[in-house]
Amino acid sequence: MSKSIKVVRGMHDILPQQSPLWQHLEACVRQVVQAYGYDEIRMPIVEKTELFVRTIGEVTDIVAKEMYTFNDRNGDSLTLRPEGTACCVRACIENGLLYNQVQRLWYSGPMFRHERPQKGRYRQFYQTGVEAYGLDGPDIDAELIMMTARLWQLLGLEGLELQINTLGTPVTRAAHREKLVKYLEGNRNLLDEESLLRLEKNPLRILDSKNPTMQAMIEGAPQLLDYLDDESRDHFDTLKSLLDGAGIAYRINPRLVRGLDYYQKTVFEWVTHDLGAQGTVCAGGRYDGLVEQLGGKATPAIGFAMGMERLLTLIEDRGLTVLDSAPHAYLVLVGDLAVSQGLLLAEQLRSALPGLRLRSHCGGGSFKSQMKKADKSGAQLALILGEDEIAQQQVSVKHLRAEQPQASIGHDALTQYLKEALLTD
Ligand code: ATP
Ligand code: MG
Repeated sequence: MSKSIKVVRGMHDILPQQSPLWQHLEACVRQVVQAYGYDEIRMPIVEKTELFVRTIGEVTDIVAKEMYTFNDRNGDSLTLRPEGTACCVRACIENGLLYNQVQRLWYSGPMFRHERPQKGRYRQFYQTGVEAYGLDGPDIDAELIMMTARLWQLLGLEGLELQINTLGTPVTRAAHREKLVKYLEGNRNLLDEESLLRLEKNPLRILDSKNPTMQAMIEGAPQLLDYLDDESRDHFDTLKSLLDGAGIAYRINPRLVRGLDYYQKTVFEWVTHDLGAQGTVCAGGRYDGLVEQLGGKATPAIGFAMGMERLLTLIEDRGLTVLDSAPHAYLVLVGDLAVSQGLLLAEQLRSALPGLRLRSHCGGGSFKSQMKKADKSGAQLALILGEDEIAQQQVSVKHLRAEQPQASIGHDALTQYLKEALLTD
């Protein structure tokens, strides 16, 4: 036997027993985004490398070390998308979706980052993103946060903490940056290698560092909140009062920053303490500068992305939802005639009973071995078709999970019988 080929490090199969939970999470997401009137957009998984270099920025971890970049056969540099926002903006500009109109969009799919794999951190992971274009007020910021809060409620997740901050306008940022750089230069001896690199190009991001030896120094750094211009302050104050009004608790975290230049004003994260260092399940912010930066007409924009694996782990850890995807019924077919008649009967039942999960036995074998498979499938009922049943034009119905006598049912009555036994709550 030749050596088996394994999955790529940091990537995962979603196995049949995990799928029901994924489907549940995806269905809840869809229900919530639709409840707010958002439309789905689907972008390619591969984009031109330049899209991410230009938007995310060369000094970020993502672009500097995490992208799956390759040359295709024409020699064009392409990249497996590490996030969805840039792709979504590209698609909107390219398809003229932003001309004098508001767009409220969502997408879901795999993202790729060459990070060190650990629990909650993978090289292929799924994100659901929501983006709103053409709205510059704090009302839409509040709506997005309310949407996420509603999703946690639907999923039964408690104990997630909402952290918010504002990065102000570019004017705010410039004033703050000057003071920040001065402060950091004064503390140069305390900066780690990464922060020294960021000092020139992206000093704000230093505030985001998780390096324990730098924490005290970071605590003392000038805070953006002290440099807000009137516009930014009004925006932030209104957002806070809208959240208060909606009964959504939050903590202002002055160190919550997004290093990318195009972020401004509102930023937020939903954080849990139950996933160790990988505690952020959802991160978002306003990026009014990005559309223009990518060649579109200046358009206000805000969005967030959530990590589906992290959410799934939370749902799983709390044992909140056990979903039944087992077949309702298993069709046991003994003998060639039973097979040919039974497959047709199964088709008729599926047509007559939408929602019925019926698994037909394939591959022959004895009555006994088929009954074992019926039991293992998790089905409620075994529908048995053998020589006797065919002669009598009936099907034997055996209850696999309940103490009920076996019944013989004529083909005509079977639909009604199954409907009552399986599909009524
Ligand atoms: P982190 O600080 O955890 O690295 P990030 O700031 O890189 O997150 P974003 O780019 O804002 O994350 O992505 C939004 C969300 O996607 C994160 O909050 C997280 O839930 C999820 N996510 C990001 N990277 C990964 C990954 N490698 N594996 C699994 N989920 C991820
Ligand atoms: Mg990251």
